[in-house]
Amino acid sequence: MKNLINLYDQNREELAALLTGWGAPKHAGLQVFHWLYQKKAGDFSAMTDLSKEFREELSTKATLSSLKLHTKQESQDGTIKYLWEIPGDFPDQTAFVESVLIPMARDEEGEPGRYTACLSTQAGCRMKCTFCATGVPKFKRNLSAAEIVSQVVFMERDSGTKFNNVVVMGMGEPMDNYEHTQKAMRILHDQEGLNLGRRRITVSTSGLLDHMKRFIKDDWPVSLAVSLHSADPDIRSKLMPINRSNPLDQLRKVMRDFTYKRRLPVTLEYILLKDVNDRPEDADKLAAYCKDLLCKVNLIRYNPVPTLPFDSPSEERVMAFKDYLRNKGMKVFLRERKGVDIAAACGQLGFTEKPASKTA
Ligand code: SAH
Ligand code: SF4
Repeated sequence: MKNLINLYDQNREELAALLTGWGAPKHAGLQVFHWLYQKKAGDFSAMTDLSKEFREELSTKATLSSLKLHTKQESQDGTIKYLWEIPGDFPDQTAFVESVLIPMARDEEGEPGRYTACLSTQAGCRMKCTFCATGVPKFKRNLSAAEIVSQVVFMERDSGTKFNNVVVMGMGEPMDNYEHTQKAMRILHDQEGLNLGRRRITVSTSGLLDHMKRFIKDDWPVSLAVSLHSADPDIRSKLMPINRSNPLDQLRKVMRDFTYKRRLPVTLEYILLKDVNDRPEDADKLAAYCKDLLCKVNLIRYNPVPTLPFDSPSEERVMAFKDYLRNKGMKVFLRERKGVDIAAACGQLGFTEKPASKTA
C-alpha cells in the first residue's frame, strides 16, 4: 500500500505526466481525470476505455483509496455526517476525520435546492479556539490533498448527489495546512473535473495573516470567509488565542486587499455567544469594524459542545443582534442550524479523537 501513488493527489497536468511516464498514450491523463471526478470510478477496473493491460498496471502502481468510511449518521433534517478512518504509515497515525453533506432548501442568500459539502483539512486543530470542539483533542496531523479532495468525491459517490457548493469549514485550519489545501482547491476548481467556480468554494480561516497574504498572492480560486466572532481585541483574544499575534486592525487590511484584488466580498463569521459577544455594544463594534469593508456578516448560533463553558443566546437576542446590524444597512445572514442532533453542526466536529464504536 505504502508505495502506491494516490491519483487524487495529482492535479490534471501531474496526472498526465505520470501516466505518460508509465507508457500510456497522451490522452490517458484526461481520460483518467474524467473517471476520477466526473464518473467517480471506485476502482481501475471500471475505467473501461483504457486497455485491460494498462488498468492492471495501474492497480500495481497507483491507488484511488484514502478514506475508509467508519460511520455515517443522518440527521432528521437530512444532513449526513461521514466519519472517515484514515490510515497513516503507523497505527498511531490513523486519523478520524469528519465531513458533512448539507442539503439546503435555500442557501443563505435564498437560492433554492442545493447541496453543500463541508470539508476538513486537518485531524484536530492547533488554533485551540476556546469555543470549538475540534481544538479539544490533541492535534493529529494535516490531511493530504487526496484526503481533502476525496471527501467530496466519496460523499457524491455514496449519496448520489452533486454538490453545488463546497465550504472548508470542517475540522482544522486550512491556512495551517497551506500547500495541501491549496492543491485540493485547485483540483476541485478544475473545469475538467468537478468544475466548482470561485463563488462555489468558500475557505474559512481563523485569520492567520501571513498565510492569508500568501493566499491572496497565489490567487486560490475560492471565496474567503473569516472567523471574526468579536471586533473587540480583548474579547477576541480570549475566544481565539491567535488574535494576539494576528491583530484585528491588520486582519482588516488583509481582508480589504482581498476584496480589492478579487472584487468579491469577504464573509465574516460571527458566532453568537450568550453574554460574551451578543450585546448591543458588541454589534456596534462589529458595525464600526465593517465600515469601508466589502463584506457580509454570517451570524451563527453557538452550537453546544460538551465541557465548553458557552451558551447560545435566546432567539430574541439573536434576532435583535441581526436586526440591529440590518438597520445599519449591513448585509447580514443568520446561518440555518443543521445537523445539531448528530453533532454535525458548525464547531461540533471531531470532539472525540477516537470514536467509541462502529454504529453503521
Ligand atoms: N478553522 C477555520 C475553519 C473551520 S471552523 C475557522 O475557524 O474559520 C468553521 C466555522 O465554525 C468557524 O466560523 C468557526 O468559528 C465555527 N465554529 C466553531 N465552533 C463552533 C460552535 N461550537 N458553534 C458554532 N460555530 C462554531
Ligand atoms: Fe480551529 Fe477553526 Fe476550531 Fe478555531 S474554530 S479551533 S481555527 S477549527
